[in-house]
Amino acid sequence: MVVAAGNARELAAGAGAATRRVELAPGEVALPGFTDAHIHLVDTAIAADSLDVFRADTLDDALQMVTDAAARIPAPGWILGSGWDQRRWGTWPQADMLERAAPGRHVALRSFDLHALWASPAALAAAGISRSTPDPSGGIIRRATDGEPDGIFFEKASEVVLSKAPPPTAEMLRRAIRSIGRACLELGVVGAHELGTLFPDTSNKALDVYASLADAGELPIRVHAGVRADGLENALERGLRSGSRIGEADPSRLAFGWLKLFADGTLGSRTAALLEPREGTAERGLFTNPPAFLEERTATASAAGIATTIHTIGDAAVRLGLDVLGPTARSATFMPRLEHVQLCHPDDRARFGTLGVAASIQPIHLREDAPGARRDWGDRAESAGYTWRSLLDAGATVALGQDAPLEPLDPWPGIALAVLRRDPTWGAEAAPFGAREAITLVEALRASTVGPWQTLRDPLGGRLVAGSHADVVVLPSMPDEALLRSAEFGRIRPRLVLVGGETAFER
Ligand SMILES: [Zn+2]
Repeated sequence: MVVAAGNARELAAGAGAATRRVELAPGEVALPGFTDAHIHLVDTAIAADSLDVFRADTLDDALQMVTDAAARIPAPGWILGSGWDQRRWGTWPQADMLERAAPGRHVALRSFDLHALWASPAALAAAGISRSTPDPSGGIIRRATDGEPDGIFFEKASEVVLSKAPPPTAEMLRRAIRSIGRACLELGVVGAHELGTLFPDTSNKALDVYASLADAGELPIRVHAGVRADGLENALERGLRSGSRIGEADPSRLAFGWLKLFADGTLGSRTAALLEPREGTAERGLFTNPPAFLEERTATASAAGIATTIHTIGDAAVRLGLDVLGPTARSATFMPRLEHVQLCHPDDRARFGTLGVAASIQPIHLREDAPGARRDWGDRAESAGYTWRSLLDAGATVALGQDAPLEPLDPWPGIALAVLRRDPTWGAEAAPFGAREAITLVEALRASTVGPWQTLRDPLGGRLVAGSHADVVVLPSMPDEALLRSAEFGRIRPRLVLVGGETAFER
């Protein structure tokens, strides 16, 4: 715990026998540790273990990686992975390509944004998918002109296939979470809000794995672990509430988080729910769950002391999310939240503050999203898209995260996008995206340190003041805008990280 903060004299007065003294080198700076407010920690951990076709520049490269994986992973094990993007390859991948790359094998690869799936004929057969299978509600099975499924599944249709893949074992989870926790520490990230896993029936197993790691003192970072709709009943049976202990460890190290629900899809899959149609079309995207379902689950969770957070990309989803969460906000242990908030109608901005619903944002998504947002949302993209400045000015509590494994764990590229509204990968000539919505570096740091704790209603979390948790990151220098512009994020790696006053990482 921090016992005193201030100048040398004040510190000397506050110091006791157990006070630890760490001398900073010239130029070094101590900041509060970062908390990632939106991470899929289990999925990030598993992804680090599985096939990453994001590195494949072409479809052929990806297929070669599948062939190599088939040689490495013995049948009948599934070959799982993620990272494809049909825009990058210039063409949609298909099931029969996987059959040629890995004959007879079960292959299921998620798209880079995890909202689509590319599966092999064996995986389709395991899931019982054929020409006569109707699209499940909230999902689409892509089909050739003759009606035959071509191996691409959107949104909930993906789950029909993925639910047939064997879930990760507890031992796999233990190993993977420990190693991803250490990777977080090396980046100065001392805490994570786990927003749930895509692996079916795994969220409750994950809670047990977190608990066993924390009880053994082997959970490297602080974790607030939530569940998705499929894990709510089990959480209720266990009597879990937002902020309650899971296992024996101190709840500041491991506690139950939020129920995570989904209101809509994504920009990339053109499934974000919009108030006005996409430019040049009559399409408004879709609610991936009916509003009545969101209301019922939120109310059920709220009655049991579990706060809810809802994935909302489009402005219709954001409006719905505020409507659903508003009535539960005052009584909630944790602030209810909306995740992403990528397109927000100006009329809804002030509702975050007045209702008491937090905005959990991931500026890093703008790096890939900018062209698609301009194309699909037209003028709305830069006036009502990614409006972090306006949300702060309207009184919203803003917490920042990276959304790993969709994006890298490193917090700095996202902070740079929030401040600069541009990314080095766009090229030197590219205009910033909605420059008026830039926030300052200090605001971005607050949203990465204090903001996530504010959503836990913890007034001291993420600060270095008397009584706070003593999560400290020592950086080689204070980052400034010039450093963000240079994108040399490797220069901002911590030399020392303390969690709860103890050395958790030292370079
Ligand atoms: Zn996410």
